[in-house]
Amino acid sequence: MENYKQILLAVDFYEQGEAVANRAKDMAERYQAKLGLIHVVDSLPITEANYGADIPFNMDLTTELLAGAKERLVKLAASLDVPEDRQWLEMGSPKTEIIRVAKEHNVDLIVVGSHGRHGLGLLLGSTANGVLHHAECDVLAVRLQDE
Ligand code: AMP
Repeated sequence: MENYKQILLAVDFYEQGEAVANRAKDMAERYQAKLGLIHVVDSLPITEANYGADIPFNMDLTTELLAGAKERLVKLAASLDVPEDRQWLEMGSPKTEIIRVAKEHNVDLIVVGSHGRHGLGLLLGSTANGVLHHAECDVLAVRLQDE
């Protein structure tokens, strides 16, 4: 079994991100692997496709979201010693973008946080679950404590 070489930490900045980040950093150190970071600005709620042509794509809001996300990503990257060329800020579906970036950059381990969701909560969609089932590489799901 080969050691991991490229680890990708997916961050959503909502909650308990520190525990997930610490786990990813620890794994990178153990395996002497390169650590990368990805955050996806979920574009779905503000696209025309969801609400029809009456609600146009809001460029100002998107720019603002991206700027805020970039700031947080850069700050987290600095605390984890992740260089700029391994920081990815994407727009779209988090699951799809995480899997795409992982594939394009030969990532061999994706680290995500995971809630203990089941039943309807799971059916309604979880990024962690989507990544786990569709990624071509290993996925480490770090358990988040449910409130
Ligand atoms: P969820 O399944 O949506 O509760 O999210 C679980 C985990 O998926 C988070 O802890 C992150 O690791 C990852 N994740 C969720 N949303 C995003 C996002 N927008 N960008 C990057 N990673 C995300």
